[in-house]
This record gives sequence, structure tokens and C-alpha cells, in this order.
Amino acid sequence: MTKEEIIAALSPDTDPAQLFALADQVRREYVGEDVHLRGLIEFSNHCRRRCYYCGIRAGNAKVRRYRLTPDQILYGARSAVSLNYKTIVMQSGEDPAWGPKELAAIVEKVKKETALAITLSVGEHSKEDYRTLRAAGADRFLLRFETSDRRLFSMLKPDSNYDQRFRCLAWLKEAGFQVGSGVMAGLPGQTSESMADDILLFKQLELDMVGIGPFIANPDTPLGGAPGGTLDTALRMVALTRIVTKNTHIPATTAMGTIDAQGRQKALKCGANVLMPNISPTEYRTDYSLYPGKICVNEQPEQCGACVDAMLAGLGRKRAEGFGHSLKTSGE
Ligand code: SAH
Repeated sequence: MTKEEIIAALSPDTDPAQLFALADQVRREYVGEDVHLRGLIEFSNHCRRRCYYCGIRAGNAKVRRYRLTPDQILYGARSAVSLNYKTIVMQSGEDPAWGPKELAAIVEKVKKETALAITLSVGEHSKEDYRTLRAAGADRFLLRFETSDRRLFSMLKPDSNYDQRFRCLAWLKEAGFQVGSGVMAGLPGQTSESMADDILLFKQLELDMVGIGPFIANPDTPLGGAPGGTLDTALRMVALTRIVTKNTHIPATTAMGTIDAQGRQKALKCGANVLMPNISPTEYRTDYSLYPGKICVNEQPEQCGACVDAMLAGLGRKRAEGFGHSLKTSGE
């Protein structure tokens, strides 16, 4: 698809029915009916950065800060095994107390005890640190570039650097990770042209995974008063990403489920093939408050497992049996 075609397809004035049907067909052809479940463990909400959109930004005094211990993470990994998930995603703010050394140690432990694939989502680090984490056994890494618009990026992430973010993605690939990136849809000041660039960039970067969620304004951040992104735009982004990138893994994100009770189901019908049920300890879930209204905060991991199984049954889809490694590199 050309950039012009993508821009036209993103317009809320065009009927998305055909677009969604095509994305569903491409999904069926390239990644099949299987849905991969990745257990998400949000292991620390301490963060040294001040991203304008994010509720766990440094300096937000309203957040009750927590960090899980290695044993609590191990417990989470065990519950993932018992729920028959094949992957855990360890996500956090950029917490100096959970540095690369500490992370490498827990990755090694989980790998020693379980057969789980491990995905890290822990922000920007040095090339050497990424290598260390890969050597410790982490398989995949998620680092959204958030927006391809350089000006918007520097407004939203005042203490980050656009080029550095992309350098990190290159380092991750060099280190041998399966790499995921992504963006928020509907950010203040984000144009459909820049969203079209986002999608073309996903392809150019040859990503293994692409995560897209609507921006949701958090009242405790500088963007608290901004309007949020719509589910419609986020779904169009998912559909177009599927059509353009073909065989990437695309999650139906929690943010989509937050702004619409059927958001994740809708995403699974227009290109998505991954779900990330929460396995964080229930008592900390509300504290990992990137945005307000997050779903599943009162549930136990087992309840989220039952819920996603019911969701899949309702859609006539099934749980994948394999690890769900990259379709670009492993040929699984
Ligand atoms: N510290 C890690 C993990 C970030 S949290 C990192 O920087 O990569 C995971 C994702 O949540 C972010 O990449 C961002 O896209 C999303 N997110 C944060 N705040 C949000 C908000 N207010 N609305 C929607 N998504 C948000």
C-alpha cells in the first residue's frame, strides 16, 4: 500500500468494513487461527523518565510505587506455566534498582526452572546491557517508538531522544532478540500522515511484533486534559499494520479493552493474533497505572486465564500450542 492509500484508509470518513475484512483474511493466511497468549507481569512502576502521557512517570507523587522481588517474579512465572502460557512478558518503568544485572539474574532463574519464552519490556539500555540480557536467556524485547513524528516524540518524551530510541531497536536486533515495537494511536497533535509513516516504518524495521493501543489521557500527567484516541483509529492502525507487515505478531492490547469492552475482540477480528493476559499480583495492578480505567485490576491470574479462553471460544479461535516465536526468523 502507498502512503496515500494508508492515509485515506485511516480517515474516519471511509467505511472500515472492507479494510477490516481484508486484514482478517491476511491474518488468516499469514498467521492462522492460533492466538498466542503472553502472560504480562508488571514488575516495577518506578521510572526515571517523565514521558508526558504516562502515569508512572517520575515525579507523579500520586502513584504508590512498588517493585516486585525476584521471588515474586518467579511466582508469576510459575503461575504462567500452570495456566499453560508459553511466554511471559516482564514489563516495568526504567527502574534503576532493576538494572541489567538484576534483570539478567532473574531471567536466568526463570529460564532454568521453566521452558517459558521471556519477553522484556524495560526501556532504553546500552548495547552491552542488551547483549547481557540476551545472553542471560531473554528471547524477545518490546520497545515501542511511540510515534514516528520526531517533533511529537520530543514533546512527549522530554528526556529521551528520537534517534537513540531507534538506535536501541537496532541494538536489540543485533543482540539477537526478536524485536517488537509500536505506537499509541490518537496522541495529541498526531496526524494521519504520521500514523501512515508509523505503519511504513514497522515494515521497514522488519519487526517481529507490533503493538498498537489508543492513547488514553491520564489526569495525573501533563496531557491529562487532552482528548484520547478512538478505538476506530486504533483498529484501523491494526488492520493496516497487518496488511502491510503480513506475518508480524500483533496483540489485541489492554488499552483497546479499556476504552471499549469489546475492544480486544474487535482487534482480533481485524488483524490481531496475540493476547496478553495479566499475571501481575492483584494487589499491585492498580498501581501500574499508565492510564486510568485499566481492565482486569481486580482479577487473579486464573480469572484472566479463564476470561481469555472464553473470549477465544466466542470468536471461534483457538489458543496456540507453540511458543509463538517470530514468524520472520524461526519458521515455527
Ligand atoms: N518503560 C517501558 C515500558 C513502557 S509501558 C518503555 O519505555 O518501553 C508500555 C507502553 O504503554 C508504552 O510503550 C506506551 O506506548 C503505553 N502507554 C503509556 N502511557 C499510555 C497512555 N496514557 N495511554 C495509552 N498507552 C500508554
